[in-house]
Amino acid sequence: MSKPGLPEQVVAAVRAVLGDGAGPFPLHEPEIGPLEAQYINECVGSGWVSTVGPFVDRLEAALGELCGVENVFATSAGTAALHLALAALGVGEGDEVIVPSLSFVATANAVSYTGAIPHFADADEWTLGLDPRALKKHMDEACVMQAGDCRNKATGRRIAAIVVMHAFGHPAEMDALQDVADQWGVPLVEDAAEALGSSYEGKPAGSLSRIAALSFNGNKIATAGGGGAVLTNDAELAARVRHLGSTAKLPHKWEYVHDETGFNYRMPSLNAALLLAQVERLDDFIKRKRRLAARYAASFCSVQGADFMGQPPGARSNYWLNTIRLAVATRPERDAVLEALISDGILARPVWEPLHNLPMFRTCPTADLSVTERLSGQLINLPSSPKLQDLLHD
Ligand SMILES: *Cc1c(COP(=O)(O)O)cnc(C)c1O
Repeated sequence: MSKPGLPEQVVAAVRAVLGDGAGPFPLHEPEIGPLEAQYINECVGSGWVSTVGPFVDRLEAALGELCGVENVFATSAGTAALHLALAALGVGEGDEVIVPSLSFVATANAVSYTGAIPHFADADEWTLGLDPRALKKHMDEACVMQAGDCRNKATGRRIAAIVVMHAFGHPAEMDALQDVADQWGVPLVEDAAEALGSSYEGKPAGSLSRIAALSFNGNKIATAGGGGAVLTNDAELAARVRHLGSTAKLPHKWEYVHDETGFNYRMPSLNAALLLAQVERLDDFIKRKRRLAARYAASFCSVQGADFMGQPPGARSNYWLNTIRLAVATRPERDAVLEALISDGILARPVWEPLHNLPMFRTCPTADLSVTERLSGQLINLPSSPKLQDLLHD
C-alpha cells in the first residue's frame, strides 16, 4: 500500500482527537446553559431590556476586571467597537490606518467607516499577527515625519493609527509593535476580537494598547448573541467613546440635544445578560479549549507537512480557533485537505482571503505582503468548540 497523502494524514490526525463520532463537528459552537437562561430571565423580569440597566453596568465591570482595563463601553458589535475606537482617536477623512491584511474584513471595514484608508501590512509567520520587523522596515522606507505627523511619502496622507489583531487568539508581538508605533508617534489599537482571555507577558489582551476592541459575535469564545466592547485606560478617550457611541447626546434631564454626528452603538441589556453569564464561565471555556489544543498539538506531531500553530513565546492563548499550517502553499493542495476534512464531517475552514485582494481594498496602499499571501494558502482552522474536549477520554 502506498503512503497516505496529506489530506488523509490530516483527517486521521483530527479524527485521533475527535474520535469516530459521525459529527458534523462545527468550527465553533457557543455553549448556552442554565446561567445564561437565569440572567436573561432576570433581565426580562426587571423590564430593563434595552441599552440602560444593571446588566450593562455589571458586564462592563466584569470585562474591566477580566482585561485589567479601567474603562469599558459595551457595543452592539465588535465592528462597531473598532469603528468607535478609531473615531474616538480622531481618525478620519484623509488619513491612513495600518492594518494586517491577514484579518477578518471588519478590521479594514472599520477604517473605511471613518473615511480613512486601510494601509495593509504583512503577517509574522509564527504569531500570524503583524510582523514588527517587517512593519519597521516598511515604515522606515514608506513614511516620513512631517510637522509631528507620520505620513505616507507616496500619498501624503497621515498614518493615524496602527491596528494590531491577535489572530485566532494568539497575541501579536506587542512590545516590538509598540516600539515601532512609538518611533513614529502613532497610536496602537488592538483588534482583540478573537483574544478575550488571552495574555501577553502576563497582561490581558485588550490592555496592551491605547484602545482595544472586543467582539462577542456568535462564533467568538464568549457570545452576547452579537456585541462588542471598547476598552481603554485613557479616561479622556473613554469619555469620547461613550459620547460618540451613544448618539453624542449632551447630558440633560429632559432635552434632546446632540452636539455632533454620533453613533447608536450601545449594547442592549438582553445581550449583556447573556454575555455576563458567558464571561463568568470563560475560565472553564479556556481550560477546555487549551486541553483540546494540547490534543491537536500532540496529534499533529506525527504529521509531516502540517504544523499545529501553538501559542507564541511569552503569550498565553485562549486558542479560540485551532489552526494548522500546511507545508504546501497552493490553493488546490490546501483545498484538497479542506475537501477531505469537510466530507468527513470535520467542518474545517481556510483562513480569510487576504484583505488587500478584496475588491473594495484593491487600490489601497500596501507593504510587501508575501508572508500573508503564502500563509493564506497554508492555514486551516479546525473545530474548536469547548464542548469537543468533553468527548475525549483523559
Ligand atoms: C469577529 C471579529 C471582529 C468583529 O466582528 P463582529 O461580528 O462585528 O462582532 C473584528 N475583527 C476580527 C479579527 C474578528 O474576528
